Amino acid sequence: MARLISHSIVLIGLVLIACEVPAGGPEVEAPGTVALVIHGGAGGMQRSTLSPERQAEYRHALETTLRAGYELLRAGSSSLDVVEATIRRMEDDPLFNAGRGAVFTAEGKNELDASIMDGASTLGGAVAGVTTVRHPISAARAVMERTEHVLLAGAGAEAFAEAEGLEIVDPKYFWTEARWESLQRAQERERAAQPGGAAAAFGTVGAVALDLDGRVAAGTSTGGMTNKRHGRIGDSPIIGAGTYASAGCGVSGTGHGEYFIRFAVAFDICSRHARGATIQEAADQVVHGVLAEAGGAGGIIALDGGGVPALVFNTEAMYRGHVLADGEPRVAIFNDE
Ligand code: ASP
Repeated sequence: MARLISHSIVLIGLVLIACEVPAGGPEVEAPGTVALVIHGGAGGMQRSTLSPERQAEYRHALETTLRAGYELLRAGSSSLDVVEATIRRMEDDPLFNAGRGAVFTAEGKNELDASIMDGASTLGGAVAGVTTVRHPISAARAVMERTEHVLLAGAGAEAFAEAEGLEIVDPKYFWTEARWESLQRAQERERAAQPGGAAAAFGTVGAVALDLDGRVAAGTSTGGMTNKRHGRIGDSPIIGAGTYASAGCGVSGTGHGEYFIRFAVAFDICSRHARGATIQEAADQVVHGVLAEAGGAGGIIALDGGGVPALVFNTEAMYRGHVLADGEPRVAIFNDE
């Protein structure tokens, strides 16, 4: 009898446990906090060279972008959707070196790169060297979700984007006077053999978001570097270099792409964080340590899995901003703010 009772207790216990665990596996606790961090490129901008009106335009663009992204996150959008929507908005804004407003290659063309990564699934997608896709970040996401590949380049990426129904534009759409003049100046400096032509021209955009379900995603989009060679691909479409996301970390970079590729900058930051460094420590070690020591100029934005941001750069300035649970966007440009 005693044996029967003890069996029954075990059985009841098992039934109770089974009732608590839904069919889909253990319930994931929604942390209920959101965070979004963005950049609009790092570089040598200074108060003396960037007019107050221009500074105000950048600050306004960053702030309205953060507000829009925050509203989406609070409404329950996924971090992946918010990263894509945020970057699409910046790709449409000629202030930034991504989409319309992208910098020119040495031949006077615009060749665009972008990537996106979903930290929860660790899936990633990217396109490189596209010339007709209005929103390269959406093409990157389509590669991630609708192919078995991670990176498509050139004509193949464009044909894929068109087949996916993404907006295709005449390459002239990306042309802006300001970037054309930058190319002329860079080429004049090149003819005069003055270094630093490209260093002044970073302007890539990036976003990292944490959604209500605790998922981190990251993305980056760029026209690359002014006066780059036709066919040159930078770090922005390289998962692990310009973009990386895992369950507890997301990073988007901007700067001299060759260095970001060589030192796997975005992955290195997440890897250091996974091994115990705070997100700020990890970002400092890589940007001020590894990258700076090698001579690589640039910066990153990052979030950890709890929504703690890090915005770190070794240049004079980085267009940047973040919004956390309180919904108040904070934006900055120069390294003394
Ligand atoms: N990282 C980009 C590239 O090398 C440039 C930038 O961030 O502005 O293509």
